[in-house]
Amino acid sequence: CGIVGYIGKRDVAPLLLEGLQRLEYRGYDSAGIVITSPKASGLKMVKAKGRVRDLEAKVPKRFAGTTGIAHTRWATHGAPSDENAHPHLDAEGKVAVVHNGIIDNATELRAKLVADGVEFLSETDTEVLVHLVARSQAVTLEEKVREALRHVEGTYGVAVMHADFSDRIVVARNGSPVVLGIGEKEMFVASDIAALVSHTRQIVTLEDGEMATLKADDFRTYTTEGSRTTATPTTVEWEA
Ligand code: GLU
Repeated sequence: CGIVGYIGKRDVAPLLLEGLQRLEYRGYDSAGIVITSPKASGLKMVKAKGRVRDLEAKVPKRFAGTTGIAHTRWATHGAPSDENAHPHLDAEGKVAVVHNGIIDNATELRAKLVADGVEFLSETDTEVLVHLVARSQAVTLEEKVREALRHVEGTYGVAVMHADFSDRIVVARNGSPVVLGIGEKEMFVASDIAALVSHTRQIVTLEDGEMATLKADDFRTYTTEGSRTTATPTTVEWEA
């Protein structure tokens, strides 16, 4: 249902929780957050069925990081539960995905992955995407995500983090909104500008079939086929 992400220098967890609260009006049944930092050795995740404040209550005191993605879920595949809440991680805990939308061929993709020995941790359609990214032999994170999306039919706004590529967040859009917020040595992403406007008014709206890579001091957009697209930030007016 809702996505918020951040990469920069600030303490990311409070920022993302605040962003999730700004998306609460859209309705949801569970929420979650995954974070890392350039110096961290991996991803740290917390998720919970219920309200954003239930998630907040589960976040450990020490939960430091400067990069992260977060989600509020409106269940389509799998009941509302801690396990089915996003983010979803692969078995090694290296790849994290948050997803809005519906993967139409999830049942088929899941059956193939299970036949290949993949163990699923949730009932969601989203989790196939995690394993497809994790199993990709492609070299870059962008290529891994692109390859995974090639198998997927359906709608998505997705944000992906990878422990081996902790300098970036990769996002993609097909039928579910994704907007980038361009800051000073920090970048935001969200499914709704309501989650961004308290931080930046410089917005880039992704088109269907478009992807983006966010780094703290840089962003670029390209098609799911890999060719660069031009994205000039526009300034949004907004009554806070
Ligand atoms: N289809 C996904 C799920 O059920 C995402 C739902 C959403 O957009 O929140 O987990």
